[in-house]
Amino acid sequence: MQGNYITNFLKSEDIIWEDIIENDNRIELYIKMKQKPHICPRCGEITSKIHDYRVQRIKDVPLFGKPTVIGLKKRRYVCKHCGKKFYEHIDYLPRYHRMTNRLSIYILQQLKKQQSMKDISEVTGVSITTVMRLLDTIGVEPDYKTLPEIISIYKFKENSGGRKYHCIIVDPKERKILDIYKLLLAKYDTLTTEQKEELEVMFWYSDDLRIAYLLKEEFNDKVLKCKNSKEAKIELKRWIQLAKESKIDEFKRCVQVFNRWFEEITNAFDIPYTNSVTEGYNNKIKVLKRLAYGYRNFYRFRKRILYCNA
Ligand SMILES: [Zn+2]
Repeated sequence: MQGNYITNFLKSEDIIWEDIIENDNRIELYIKMKQKPHICPRCGEITSKIHDYRVQRIKDVPLFGKPTVIGLKKRRYVCKHCGKKFYEHIDYLPRYHRMTNRLSIYILQQLKKQQSMKDISEVTGVSITTVMRLLDTIGVEPDYKTLPEIISIYKFKENSGGRKYHCIIVDPKERKILDIYKLLLAKYDTLTTEQKEELEVMFWYSDDLRIAYLLKEEFNDKVLKCKNSKEAKIELKRWIQLAKESKIDEFKRCVQVFNRWFEEITNAFDIPYTNSVTEGYNNKIKVLKRLAYGYRNFYRFRKRILYCNA
């Protein structure tokens, strides 16, 4: 297996352990290959004359909680016959390798835990960019062919103090996060004066936007506040009527979906699922927000959350 090559390499008879240096912030393992006769790649003569050494540094999994580097002292031979200088041949190791495969696997395992990318970078000695690059290689797209019996949707505010909201979709029965979206519009009464003024200016330019925003507020204040399915049926019917009258294209699809799933949506108001599960997820989201620190890219943040919950 490819992932084990470094283990095999370090165990092999061809290796000479030169030195182990433990600093405050990292461990360095120096090794070199046993000297043996090499065939000159230019003229074919056999030589075992050493010209010099160059150190190839390969980051490996942390030892004793410290970043660890293997310093492979690669030998250059020189041909006594034609003067050609060449590196010794090493079976086990790709020439330009900067980190071991088992370190990549280790980082992917750490990404599954609730640790920030900064912590992972510090303990392994690789850059945050490298951690991000590894995260980018993971596929976590949810499978929407089947949906759970019950789904819950929560809104939470991004950590950075902005007005961006995220919306998180949860399977409350399995206590599993299904997906996470960006939400653009915040509730009107949570906006600052300045943000309200900005919104007013936007509304002044667009009637559709004003109506859309009012519909959203109406939905939050009336429909979502219903205490049971009976109330919800009345309020949702009223809201669908308002949305239809708005004649805004974006709401057409929304009206269709609400009509098609009318019974399911309104029945959800009778299911006593919400509070306890929300509490649990609030804690989880707090952890995620801490993890999210440094995620400028929403899609990467989403991927991390889905990966941690897979
Ligand atoms: Zn030669």
